Amino acid sequence: MLKYIDSHAHLDFDKFNKDRDEVIKRAKTNGIINIINVGTSLASSHRALNLSQKYEMIYAVVGIHPHQAKNFSKRSIKVLKDLAKADKVIGIGEIGLDFYYDNSPREQQKEVFRQQLRLAKEINLPVVIHSREADQQTIKILKEETMYNHNILLHSFTGSKEMAGEALNMGFYFGVGGIVTFNSAQYLKNIIQNVPLSKILLETDSPYLAPAPHRGKRNEPLYVIEVAKFIASLKNSSLVKIAEMTTKNTKRFFKID
Ligand SMILES: [Zn+2]
Repeated sequence: MLKYIDSHAHLDFDKFNKDRDEVIKRAKTNGIINIINVGTSLASSHRALNLSQKYEMIYAVVGIHPHQAKNFSKRSIKVLKDLAKADKVIGIGEIGLDFYYDNSPREQQKEVFRQQLRLAKEINLPVVIHSREADQQTIKILKEETMYNHNILLHSFTGSKEMAGEALNMGFYFGVGGIVTFNSAQYLKNIIQNVPLSKILLETDSPYLAPAPHRGKRNEPLYVIEVAKFIASLKNSSLVKIAEMTTKNTKRFFKID
């Protein structure tokens, strides 16, 4: 059986309260060897850690999403730092900028992003970035915080061709999920076609963004296989190669086993 890793899921969300166990089991029996559960707030980061302690296959990433930047306090960094000490916490995220929803004031989003980048640097953990409608600002901050030699993953990449170019120059990685399978995302297909396979990690962003043919339904880690199939056809490659390479990339990026 081919092996896959879902590098970005939110199994701690309420949408999985009724069948979390089955969802995880379903993924496991179909070749998903690891799921990386990403925090979006302090509470969600705690839940991510709990999941990683309960399930061997799950790892946790802890951080405060730009939507939650408005709730950030001095204490938040201390709590994150403590959480990050746990064995199965392998990264800081998802952090970044969201100028599409603007759920938190932009200046506050920037400041919270910077502080968490500094924390990641201090404790030497990879970073999972959320960036929406904020290409230039995100790159600018990553440059100003001198994140060149740091493992940076642009999760659910939907940036411009220019941003993709900048990201490749800086050695960043690309998280590819459901969006690339949507008919409406032709521009993204073109970009991903030109990103070297060595820089691509598979993800679902469950419960959001289910790939075709499950679009519109609740997403789950099992569907990472649909993303892999799509990339195989996009890159004229075999599913075996996509599964092997992306699994290897994810392990290298997060420094797991
Ligand atoms: Zn996410």
